[in-house]
Amino acid sequence: MNLDQIIALQRANAPAQAQTSLKYRLHKLDQLRRALQGHWQGKLADALHEDFGKSPVEVGLTEIFPTLDNLKIIRKNLKRWSAPQKVKTPLPLFGSSSYTQPEPKGSTLVIAPWNYPIFLSLHPLCTSFAAGNTVLLKPSEHTPKTSAALAELVAEIFKPEEASVVTGGVDVSTALLKERFDHIFFTGSTAVGKIVMEAASKHLCSVTLELGGKSPTIVDESANAFEAGQRVAWAKFTNAGQICIAPDHIYVHARKLEDFKRGVAKVLIKQYGEDPIQSKDYVRVVNENHFDRLSTMLQQATQESGAPFIGGATHAGKRKITPTVFINPSKDGALMKEEIFGPLLPVFSYTELSEPLQEINAREHPLVVYIYSKSKRNIRAIQQGTRAGATAVNMSLLQIANNYLPFGGTGHSGIGKTNGHAGFMEFTNNRSAFYQWGFPVNKILAPPYTSGKAKLVQRLIKNLF
Ligand code: NAD
Repeated sequence: MNLDQIIALQRANAPAQAQTSLKYRLHKLDQLRRALQGHWQGKLADALHEDFGKSPVEVGLTEIFPTLDNLKIIRKNLKRWSAPQKVKTPLPLFGSSSYTQPEPKGSTLVIAPWNYPIFLSLHPLCTSFAAGNTVLLKPSEHTPKTSAALAELVAEIFKPEEASVVTGGVDVSTALLKERFDHIFFTGSTAVGKIVMEAASKHLCSVTLELGGKSPTIVDESANAFEAGQRVAWAKFTNAGQICIAPDHIYVHARKLEDFKRGVAKVLIKQYGEDPIQSKDYVRVVNENHFDRLSTMLQQATQESGAPFIGGATHAGKRKITPTVFINPSKDGALMKEEIFGPLLPVFSYTELSEPLQEINAREHPLVVYIYSKSKRNIRAIQQGTRAGATAVNMSLLQIANNYLPFGGTGHSGIGKTNGHAGFMEFTNNRSAFYQWGFPVNKILAPPYTSGKAKLVQRLIKNLF
């Protein structure tokens, strides 16, 4: 089936798909769960290993586990999420009742990135399907083996008219974006997010944009900076920094800088040994383009600011760049121009909290502001003094593991939220329903406007509010 045919098939099927029972949808999602707990886990892990050398343990932890966790939340809550909700009836509307009734949006498109290609594809696919939509998934061209495996898995479980995968690159994405969908769920870069939103506007199609940005971390004077260094290093160099919510750059209070550096150094040796390039648990950079982009960034930062405190080695054959930490590099330099999305970490020391706050606010709103602190006052000041999709305090990354927390950005880091009920609502039109059961108010207040009606209106205006 070609692209036009599959789009037409799903569009034609959308009204019938909306009528499918929750039992049917949950049955399909259960088949997917069993496949992921069974032999498909190994198949997907092999594909991801071929694509960018991810260890099967990490695939289990960061791809399969969160996908299954989300499926469990859907299974437990779908009935409640899909049920009509009664809303209050104000006094003048006596004799009526009102509800909201979630209904599917119709035909949906999911465009996914490469860095967590299983979870970021299957999670929106499952949520959209659970909500009663048809789903067309376009995974990333940068993880071809995983995308092909996903296509096979989805075809094994779903009928093409209800959920299907199309593979390909920018050309396929561009072709898809010309077509009419009822919702587009896009995860990727801010630059492409703008293209998606522009294309969606032609059809007034709603969008969820899960984008990126430079997520800062502040380690204040009260923090256990040695522990913070260890947690930040774990979070930053997992997946070789190719995570949308990876700590992008760090502000450490000057008095805590040495403790922080000791923490970073300790965890890097512990996790990846003396030569991370040889570590089988250290992920490579996804492709040559990104390897070249990051290598150039590394060279420029070294020229601008001197050698890094840790790391700085590259291996083109293995497409690996060692975990690299710069202390106080140039703030106008290569590392601070755009989202790093790789294993390079600039660390800046500060003396007054107002300095990092000012710098954070001078940039676009990030996905996350991370705070390491024991001071409730400082935590509040940072939370209230910045805007971001999320805050995480005294930990990095783990907030994403709580699928009950809505996930998403604000402004340039995204529009809309995913996970749990928030994710379900992105794929849902929360339709309003008004029922008049008894005597309607317009019988009393319709023209002719007698002096009695005028007095009644005035009495309502004065006393009702
Ligand atoms: P990307 O924006 O380059 O690509 C994402 C998807 O868009 C891919 O499927 C790709 O084929 C498609 N695409 C690329 N260029 C396109 C174009 N010109 N027109 C139409 N479609 C196009 O992103 P990526 O490199 O795959 O992923 C990295 C980015 O994604 C980072 O910025 C990261 O922060 C962000 N990200 C965000 C989240 C989140 O949940 N907020 C999660 C993961 C990654």
